[in-house]
Amino acid sequence: MLSDVGSKTTVQNISKIFCGNHDAVADLAMMIDSRRMPHAFILEGADGLGKSTFARIIARGAMCTCAEPLSGECPHCRKLRDNIHPDLIYIQGSGKLGAISIDSVREMRINCQIAPNEADKRVFVLEDCDNMLSAAQNAFLKIFEESPPHIVFVMTCRSAMNLLTTIRSRGRIITLHPVKTEEGAEFICRTRPDVDPDTAADACAKSGGNIGEALRFLGGGDDELNNRAENVTLGIIRAMCGGSELELAAKCAAIGRDRELAGAVCARLCEQLRCCVVTAAGACDTLDSPSPEIMRLGATVSADTLIKYIDEINILSDWLKININMPLFNTRLAIILQRR
Ligand SMILES: [Zn+2]
Repeated sequence: MLSDVGSKTTVQNISKIFCGNHDAVADLAMMIDSRRMPHAFILEGADGLGKSTFARIIARGAMCTCAEPLSGECPHCRKLRDNIHPDLIYIQGSGKLGAISIDSVREMRINCQIAPNEADKRVFVLEDCDNMLSAAQNAFLKIFEESPPHIVFVMTCRSAMNLLTTIRSRGRIITLHPVKTEEGAEFICRTRPDVDPDTAADACAKSGGNIGEALRFLGGGDDELNNRAENVTLGIIRAMCGGSELELAAKCAAIGRDRELAGAVCARLCEQLRCCVVTAAGACDTLDSPSPEIMRLGATVSADTLIKYIDEINILSDWLKININMPLFNTRLAIILQRR
């Protein structure tokens, strides 16, 4: 039997990082505490309600080794918080519909047989499954049936009704809802000390309790976004220093469908490339010494090419304002950075 206290602590730990949605949080806390994580989750809800964040919390629940679940001190909690855990794998859509293709599913099938790198479980997050074609969904069903016990799948979608009944019946459906204005405002003020309570309440009311949208209204100051941008940028720069074209494409694809992240990565990338030009020219304009990756890139790519990258990234990042298709954006970024 579970102790109520244990469960309450887990609920509190999740609520520190996820706003409202008390039923979903209580359900997940119960599964984590009882160490009975389902094989597959289906997370449904409108954009901005926190499906990606909740998927990462599920991954933490599956991998966490903290004495008190999700208290944040174990290496898995830390790496998942920074989005650098090797056992959390994102599967994203491509093409016009931005749907997960049958080829991606087949690739995942092979990937599922690999043992976890660091944790006891490997978590596959299949993002935006609404447009996934029946053939791809059916191929996924096969993996479902044959995958080893160390695998947890999390599918995210606007509505579970867009998935095949056979998939729906095998996954634990969790529905995310908008939150109450007071609750949302309190959460925003706690995670964004730069925002005052009235402004936070106003943004929550305007967004109808959609935290993601409220944060977009407020703009800036997002530490989590900055961390993610930093990690994605580092991955891209490493792949540029001697990685294969495929590796570079995969690192750019890590941006996913997050426009805000894409904008932040472009800005960070330009900053790093500028530092690279300066370093290659023998000067140093920062207080910190340049990272080994920057030194290597500066030694292998000419300054002219680096400057061209910066120009093209700036043009590409303008496309974000006119609603460019994100898989296309990520591919384009990889193509720009492959040119020598
Ligand atoms: Zn932990």
